[in-house]
Amino acid sequence: MRLPAQRRRAANGSVWLKYIVHDLTELLERARSDIAASGDLRSLDEVRVRLLGKKGAITEQLKAVGSLPVSERPAAGQAINRVKQELQSVLEGRRAELERARVEAQLGARSVDMTLPGRGQVSGGLHPVTRTLERLRTLFERAGFSVAEGPEIEDEFHNFEALNIPALHPARAEHDTFYLRNGTLLRTHTSPVQIRCLLEGKLPLRVIAPGRVYRRDSDVTHTPMFHQLEALAVDTDISFANLKAVLHGFLQAFFERELDLRFRPSYFPFTEPSAEVDMQCVICNGAGCRVCSRTGWLEILGCGMVHPNVLRICGVDPECCTGYAFGLGIDRLAMLRYGIDDLRLFFENDLRFLRQFN
Ligand SMILES: [Zn+2]
Repeated sequence: MRLPAQRRRAANGSVWLKYIVHDLTELLERARSDIAASGDLRSLDEVRVRLLGKKGAITEQLKAVGSLPVSERPAAGQAINRVKQELQSVLEGRRAELERARVEAQLGARSVDMTLPGRGQVSGGLHPVTRTLERLRTLFERAGFSVAEGPEIEDEFHNFEALNIPALHPARAEHDTFYLRNGTLLRTHTSPVQIRCLLEGKLPLRVIAPGRVYRRDSDVTHTPMFHQLEALAVDTDISFANLKAVLHGFLQAFFERELDLRFRPSYFPFTEPSAEVDMQCVICNGAGCRVCSRTGWLEILGCGMVHPNVLRICGVDPECCTGYAFGLGIDRLAMLRYGIDDLRLFFENDLRFLRQFN
């Protein structure tokens, strides 16, 4: 800084200003050439600090204004500030230039070969259980059934009591129920949807209720969550023969072949009479294999005529209306249709398994 020495020799203020302006003009010229010479953002920043930083040339000039005669301070201050603004805009212009150059250099370095083939997209597919479910819906809708839904969190009334399973009934123990708070539970079967449909009181009724059900159980053939399909028909003239015909037609349509069925007497609290249905093994066509334990038959579903107690609880007179119901495992049907021998594969989400169904 030459200013203090000049100031000592100065006779009056106007001479002062002349020196300052002369100094600033020199400073501005030097700064312009320094800025133009900075080849990158870092060296530009160094120039900026030298000029405008805390100890920079312009800052020093501004500090020195305080020691000028009072009458000269405004003009000197204005002159310095004009130069400061000029420098700021030159710096900003150069910074933008360098930034643009940097981006262009980056783009040039990372060139894209537009002629390379794309990676392609793997399209997903429906899960085998979803496919089976859709197939079931289609088949039953074609036969005049509509689809009903109910909540997965149920109460004891809909899941047990209304289905003729009172509190101390041994059938409750077989269900391995997940109990929740306030007397609610995760439904152990889709049968509570039957109750909800019957309570609505719109007869005749022909519904299927597919959905998730829950039991505390887990091994090769059991998972804590699985899928069931419930069917219910209630009308004035429904007999076991109707049930048999519907089941036969449905299973043959589902497996797309002639199948023998056999009905074994069984017991369910909510149907009377009740039966379990076996169908000819679809893997070995009845000859006997590992899947059917060499018997040639596969247990496929449970069914029966709706118990008069269930109809009564739901406000339907069992003297004038009868009905049949059956329930089956959707996962089991999917396993048989696609030849899968471990139920857990459905829930592990292994892409190698799932891609086979795309
Ligand atoms: Zn078999």
